[in-house]
Amino acid sequence: MNDQPDPEPRPRESEPPTGVSPFGGFAIDFGTPAAPAVPAGVAPIAFVTAPAPVEPGSAPAGTSGRPVESKVVIVGSGPAGLTAAIYAARANLQPIVLAGATPGGQLMITSEVENFPGFPEGIEGPELMARLRAQAERFGARLVDVDVERVDFSGRPLRLWAHGIQYSAQAVIVATGASALWLGLDSETRLRGRGVSACATCDGFFFRDKEIAVVGGGDTALEEALFLTRFATHVHLLHRRDSLRGSRIMQDRVLAHPGITFHPNSAVAEVLGDAKVDGVRVLDTVTGAAEVLPVEGLFIAIGYRPNTEVFRDWLEADAMGYLVVRGETGSQVDGVFIAGDVHDHRYRQAITAAADGCKAAIDAERWLEAHGAAGEPDAAEAFIATTG
Ligand code: NAP
Repeated sequence: MNDQPDPEPRPRESEPPTGVSPFGGFAIDFGTPAAPAVPAGVAPIAFVTAPAPVEPGSAPAGTSGRPVESKVVIVGSGPAGLTAAIYAARANLQPIVLAGATPGGQLMITSEVENFPGFPEGIEGPELMARLRAQAERFGARLVDVDVERVDFSGRPLRLWAHGIQYSAQAVIVATGASALWLGLDSETRLRGRGVSACATCDGFFFRDKEIAVVGGGDTALEEALFLTRFATHVHLLHRRDSLRGSRIMQDRVLAHPGITFHPNSAVAEVLGDAKVDGVRVLDTVTGAAEVLPVEGLFIAIGYRPNTEVFRDWLEADAMGYLVVRGETGSQVDGVFIAGDVHDHRYRQAITAAADGCKAAIDAERWLEAHGAAGEPDAAEAFIATTG
């Protein structure tokens, strides 16, 4: 502990300010599209503003009264979705990417990525995503930062609704990734944005010279703990078991770091504090003994849930909720392809997600060729006509 003045972490996940990503990444506001912070040397990102919303399922949307049409609609804008967009755009399929209201996927809440090929010095997750996005747009992919609310894969074309707009496509690539998990404690929810966070990259700065804790034993927790040593006076890594799950190299770094204390067999029972975090009550999972750690920040890094809800009536999911792939990238719906962490709980790496996106785009292109849809009217023209 120290007696520095308290930080005032601004509300984040629970109360994101209008137009600001809860993870501090791209700023999205349909009324006034804002430019994201673009890393030096990266072309500025042009946002596509969504048309005025209409009721989902009502009269076809768009200023011309038609649905927004495309040969390929890609859902999701993590490494899988954006790589699919790059490949589909370069195949002249003029894809529309429904990128999500908080675009960029998990890497937007990742600090240093050291294992993405081509970046020998490492690269910050948000910078990597900005580069992928700029690359997709360079080849003509159209990105709209909206969440898909509903889909209908019962016939042709395939239909999707996002922000009240209907999109129709011959082929769809689902690359919706996975979302951060929370512990599920009331006190955790109450203090989210007031010292509880799932994003060290976004919020670490607010804990300069503070003592903090990270929960989890996988690579995410290890990475967050190491990143947070840049700011915190000390980092406590709380893990419910006696052995860590993360990769050996990350374990070695964490266990050797003088700024990190590993607490095995430690479960968070309660986050303490009224207006902001001032401690966590930790239970020893073996003895049941309780201890209060006087930390001022708590970072939850316990894994992810696949984002499959909107597809549940149409696409098969396994017991953990991950989509089931047929063949390399196919699904049980003709013309619907699957890529990235939304189905992959084995590798879950940016590079494997990107590779998956590449494969899905190539499969979609070949499928369109085989089904005679690749020579349809120009999708970009239809897009511009209907969105202005
Ligand atoms: P993960 O490997 O599933 O680890 C989640 C951790 O959180 C586990 O240690 C788990 O404990 C713990 N946990 C889960 N639910 C909990 C709860 N309710 N209370 C307390 N603890 C809980 O997830 P991840 O760390 O996010 O990693 C996911 C994948 O991404 C992995 O394959 C990882 O290698 C990869 N990844 C790679 C990088 C990189 O290469 N730069 C960075 C991050 C992640 P148990 O161990 O007891 O189950």
